[in-house]
Amino acid sequence: MEKGDALLIVDVQNDFCPGGALAVLKGDEVVPVLNNWIQEASDRGVPVYASRDWHPPRHISFRERGGPWPPHCVQGTSGAAFHPELKLPREAQIISKAHKPDEDSYSAFGGTDLAERLRSAGVKRVWIGGLTQDYCVRETSLDALREGFEVHVIVEGTRAVNVDPKDGHRALEDVRAAGAVLEE
Ligand SMILES: [Zn+2]
Repeated sequence: MEKGDALLIVDVQNDFCPGGALAVLKGDEVVPVLNNWIQEASDRGVPVYASRDWHPPRHISFRERGGPWPPHCVQGTSGAAFHPELKLPREAQIISKAHKPDEDSYSAFGGTDLAERLRSAGVKRVWIGGLTQDYCVRETSLDALREGFEVHVIVEGTRAVNVDPKDGHRALEDVRAAGAVLEE
């Protein structure tokens, strides 16, 4: 990582980790990996951004409203908090997404000012890791490419929510085909 880069940590929240409302198998294993990247970013003066799913109660993505998911990442709950061992720097910028009752976004760019924030910070290249490989990391990476950023996905720092490993692989192939670099 160097000047012009940013580190983007996607949705490393309790509800996506073991014990959470929408737990990802071994989701917490991304935490030490990403902590190393955070440390390196801090050492090199690279800005860190952390997105979070930030839903109101009765969000449109919840099953009670016909959505695909159990209630998760409800604003202000412990499930919506970042994993307690994730060592975000004090100056990390938090990106809250899907915070309106009737709008969902898997991508950290959807309905947020992330693209403007990155551009105004002079960012050209983003390093992306977090949860989940097959939804939010996938969509965030594709949007970052559409917004004109160079994208590197930190594969060791992601896990898929779907237990069929093909889904995670397919998601990674999609982002590679769209122009991202996979850091294996
Ligand atoms: Zn959600």
